[in-house]
Amino acid sequence: MATLRRFIELSRIERLGSAHPDLIELRELATVSERGRVFPVHGLIIGSKDQSRPTLGLFGGVHGLERVGTHVVLSFLEMLAARIHWDRDTRHALSKTRIVSIPMINPCGIYFHHRPNANGVDLMRNAPVEAESHVPPLVGGQRISPRLPWFRGWGPLEIESAALIDFVRQQVFPARASLTLDMHSGFGMQDRLWYPYAKSTKVFSRIDQVSRLIDLLDRTYPHHIYRVEQQSDSYCTNGDLWDYIYELHEAREDARTRTFLPWTLEIGSWRWVRKNPLQLLRVLGPFNPIKPHRYSRTMRRHLILIDFFWKAVRNYERWSGAE
Ligand SMILES: [Zn+2]
Repeated sequence: MATLRRFIELSRIERLGSAHPDLIELRELATVSERGRVFPVHGLIIGSKDQSRPTLGLFGGVHGLERVGTHVVLSFLEMLAARIHWDRDTRHALSKTRIVSIPMINPCGIYFHHRPNANGVDLMRNAPVEAESHVPPLVGGQRISPRLPWFRGWGPLEIESAALIDFVRQQVFPARASLTLDMHSGFGMQDRLWYPYAKSTKVFSRIDQVSRLIDLLDRTYPHHIYRVEQQSDSYCTNGDLWDYIYELHEAREDARTRTFLPWTLEIGSWRWVRKNPLQLLRVLGPFNPIKPHRYSRTMRRHLILIDFFWKAVRNYERWSGAE
């Protein structure tokens, strides 16, 4: 029998789940398996038990090769867990708000070093959403074969996709205001902050709220590093889970009285490759910082953004237009 490698990301999630039983709850949302190994898909629910409170959602590890996204989420949550010990302000903020997270949506992909799930499905092409604008061949999502990248799946939702959708419906939709941030890496030289749609170049229906939030970001952090754009400004895709979840939210009767904005952080990995081309020779190289100093910098640099999102959702009355 092959020896089993340690699964560091899973251990970190489970450690967070036992760090503060009064404030952090760990839930097993689903299990998935590959090559005889079974992995849990874990959710973390942190802070107030009142689900109507403003909620920040943090997600990562949809694509198994982009493990840096899972690590950024865990870095923030571990910082939070450390602060809970000594920082009264953090505890106070958590009594008024919630942070919910699936740090590793695709554990098979993370463990076995491949982008899709165990069935070869690219989870971010798996939702029942058809693009309304031109999508590039293959990368926009394909149903030719699971042996090719960006496969959408033949049938119903994959276990991981369904777990994400259910979790957001149960833990995020009841909030009067919510922001979610899903971490990816790989595209471009620059770190991009994407709002919907991926399916269409038509103007996002909540562009006013997006503009006010970004105005707040620009005024608060004038030197921030992010290029903010609608996802379809880079490229359109079929089957984007966040497009699907957003439309589910907007179809709710009370949607107009609530704020829900799903964001994607696309960490531009091409600059790491440019500085260190040899990392292209490693399977994780194109998508992750390899040199230790670059890894540490990446872990630090997005903490400000996540903290900003958390503060923004706590103070949503100041920018969302809601009374
Ligand atoms: Zn990705």
